[in-house]
Amino acid sequence: MTTRYLGIDVGGTNSKLAVLAAGPPPDRPGDHPGGPPDPPRLLATATIPTGGGDPVEVVERLAAAGARMVAAHGPVAAAGAGVPGLFDETSGQVVFLPNLPAAWTGHRVRDQLAGRLGVPVALLNDARAFTLAESRMGAAAGCSTVVCLTLGTGVGGGVVVDGRLRMGPHGRAGELGHQVIQLDGPPCGCGNRGCVEAFAAGAALCRLGGQPSPEAVFAAAAAGDERAAAAVRVTVGRLAVGIANLVTVLWPERVVVGGGVAAAGERLFGPLRAAVAAAAPLVDPAAYQIVPAALGPAAGAIGAALWARERTGG
Ligand SMILES: [Zn+2]
Repeated sequence: MTTRYLGIDVGGTNSKLAVLAAGPPPDRPGDHPGGPPDPPRLLATATIPTGGGDPVEVVERLAAAGARMVAAHGPVAAAGAGVPGLFDETSGQVVFLPNLPAAWTGHRVRDQLAGRLGVPVALLNDARAFTLAESRMGAAAGCSTVVCLTLGTGVGGGVVVDGRLRMGPHGRAGELGHQVIQLDGPPCGCGNRGCVEAFAAGAALCRLGGQPSPEAVFAAAAAGDERAAAAVRVTVGRLAVGIANLVTVLWPERVVVGGGVAAAGERLFGPLRAAVAAAAPLVDPAAYQIVPAALGPAAGAIGAALWARERTGG
């Protein structure tokens, strides 16, 4: 039986919404005696400015946009919300959203959304939402073990192991950007030093390469700029160490890389594949692929809707 789900991806500037039609989650034995169900289908997406104001106003705006989506494409059985930071799964309260004002701390996002929409709401971190979407419907659809990274303002990520998104308590497992890859390396926003994020986030690449955007760094490197080329070598080399660690530990079938830095395309992926293979000698390079994300900017909202399905059991 197909059910519909709403996903909301809460962003610092814009928020995205998606409605999916989907059968039961794929990982409940006995659910599909007649064979696997049809894959989830994306019915609609929308983008709204997140806007300012206190959290109650912002969440009301998101809920109103969600209600419009449900009126046009619903009804939905449940909703998911991807948040850019940490939350408490038990209470549905925000713990820390690095790119939104401090007033969000303690706000009961889940209760406010559920009250307004009239359906159960499940929260997850936005990078985990991206991971779930790409692993179920995007660049790693059909794969059972997947590593996903988003290279943007920070480096987010998540892992799917044997078909299940690894969440850990409060969805905090999967902080792939905070693996330490250089002892005593540059400081990272998490308080540690030498994390993948301290090298591979967009701002770090721009600073190293002396260019205004990651794309410009890659373009200047390709055009022969020495400083930009050195920045690309450092970034790709450090990122490759982080990915090689994950490949060695997990043996994923696919590693999906998305976000603004990944927009550089083969200028990133070509050297990255070679560097990961060199740094993961115990893993057969034919056993995994390193691929760009496929779902674009709606991935977070799609993943939030998929999470609603997985939490409510279809
Ligand atoms: Zn860190």
